[in-house]
Amino acid sequence: MKKYHIWTIGCQMNVADSTHVGAELEKLGYEPTNHIDDAEVVVLNTCVVRQSAENKALGKLGSLKPWRLQDPNRTLALMGCMVGVRPSPKLLSAYPWVDVFMAPSESRPLVDHIRNRMIAEELRAIAAQQLARRHQLLDEAYPLASLKHLSLSGETPVAAYVPVVYGCSHACTYCIIPFRRGVERSRPLQEIVAETRGLVAQGVREITLLGQIVDRYGYDFPDRRPNLVDLLEAVHEIDGLWRIRFLTSHPSYMTDELLEAVARLPRLMPHIEVPIQAGDDQVLARMKRGYTAEDYRRLIARIRAIIPQAAIHTDIIVGFPGETEEQFQRTYDILEELRLEKAHLARYSPRPGTVSARRMADDVPDEEKRRRHQLLEAQHERISAELNRRWLHQTVEVLVEDRHKGKWRGRTPQNRLVFFEDERNLRGQLVPVTITWTGPWSMQGVAADRLIETRDIPTGLIVH
Ligand code: SF4
Repeated sequence: MKKYHIWTIGCQMNVADSTHVGAELEKLGYEPTNHIDDAEVVVLNTCVVRQSAENKALGKLGSLKPWRLQDPNRTLALMGCMVGVRPSPKLLSAYPWVDVFMAPSESRPLVDHIRNRMIAEELRAIAAQQLARRHQLLDEAYPLASLKHLSLSGETPVAAYVPVVYGCSHACTYCIIPFRRGVERSRPLQEIVAETRGLVAQGVREITLLGQIVDRYGYDFPDRRPNLVDLLEAVHEIDGLWRIRFLTSHPSYMTDELLEAVARLPRLMPHIEVPIQAGDDQVLARMKRGYTAEDYRRLIARIRAIIPQAAIHTDIIVGFPGETEEQFQRTYDILEELRLEKAHLARYSPRPGTVSARRMADDVPDEEKRRRHQLLEAQHERISAELNRRWLHQTVEVLVEDRHKGKWRGRTPQNRLVFFEDERNLRGQLVPVTITWTGPWSMQGVAADRLIETRDIPTGLIVH
């Protein structure tokens, strides 16, 4: 059963109000708990009659920030004299992690908030059921095994994408995906394995498993199994498949189990795509990303401890509503500190229908967004060039994908682009290439005479 916790300070009136809020929550199917970590709803019923009571309430409010940001399904309500008859704009902007502000004795906003959430959940469940039924009918009409070339057209590519989770239920405030692609739905493991086998039979050597939040694969299954690790292990068994990647991961769901799987399974490439989006906690909270900059820092340290050779890619949005110069600087600083291999940069633009478009002013001027974007671009180019320089004179394993402007083009396990000249037909081959030139976005080298046999693959990621 879902639980609630109410923290009360002040007069008897507040105690009575809290009892009333508790009764309302129980009508909605919640039961009380003394432990905040067990609760899905926390209400702070505040008093500002004395400075000490106000300080305690402020302390409590601050201490609940990580609790609230950890899980988007949680609700934090602030009630009582600190809110007053109507919350002031100052209060609203000072505590973006609070979901509901309620005047003393006024439980209605919380009840409405929870009811709306319940209705949305039910609608999502109905839509998911209808969609599952439609998938089932389509599967019966067109069995997967009978499909030729699957998602591919024309020449079979060496590297292909396989969607494993459709939609997204996270609802970051700027993002249109949940409106357009619907709620999160994981594909059955056997179906993905069958599709991958089909691709490999057609000559595909590398697959990238796709999801808006790929590390939530299986969260919508009973007991959350199979999960992404189970799926990766199953796909890893497919003969003829040499490389596996997965993206995009969300920082809140990257478990050690998943990272250890990348370190343990040789066909899983040391390449992690995990967006931070911004380096400032207030911006992250307004984006409703569900983590802080410090959480992200810790995650990068964990990835590097478990997979030392990992290339980490990230996404950034500059100019999110209300982003000050100081807040942008925090994004710049964290990228400088973490030195990630790749950053996909975007300037914020409101998508009609999203929470940020409806409720937040797009108040960073275009010119300023462009300036911030350029600063990050220059930083990224510099860091990327420095990181690539480490590969100079090393021999790396390249999976050759195609020819481009008279040269072979392929990628290293870390997804770095490599070009080289060679008279042989090397498409779809694993080639040891000694790097002779590096730039920020690609590298060039000389191919070895001897190619890598498929049986060598599990032995290593870099060939010396
Ligand atoms: S940004 Fe990603 S995680 Fe957030 S709502 Fe969009 S698709 Fe989902």
